[in-house]
Amino acid sequence: MTCELCHGDGGVLLWQNGLCRVVAVDEPGLPGFLRVILNRHAREMTDLDETDRAAFMAVVFAVESHARRCLEPDKMNLASLGNLTPHLHWHVIPRWQDDRHFPGPVWAPARHDAPVPAARAAASAVMAASLAAALGPGDR
Ligand SMILES: [Zn+2]
Repeated sequence: MTCELCHGDGGVLLWQNGLCRVVAVDEPGLPGFLRVILNRHAREMTDLDETDRAAFMAVVFAVESHARRCLEPDKMNLASLGNLTPHLHWHVIPRWQDDRHFPGPVWAPARHDAPVPAARAAASAVMAASLAAALGPGDR
């Protein structure tokens, strides 16, 4: 089986270092949805040595912090599933009480289809554009 995360960025590339990359995910109704994707193919967090595991999670937490600062969501969701694409990646998802799926996970059926508030969409674009500067050049 071909792995889509070994053969493509997996979204709009915002930042990368030698270990991993951060992409923006275009999901209607879910502004600010980001993924942190390991560059090489590995299935489970416990397949990484402690150094890489810690460095990978440090990027996840830096991305979460940046999204929180820029968007002030009601909640952040972090998820690592990989059932369909078993290549390590973390979903970093800002959530609002009025988003389409709240309080369910974003993969649950939508509860409504109201448009995303314009200010939130604009803030999400600013967040994505400033991510690379916030994360810096990376450590490897
Ligand atoms: Zn892969």
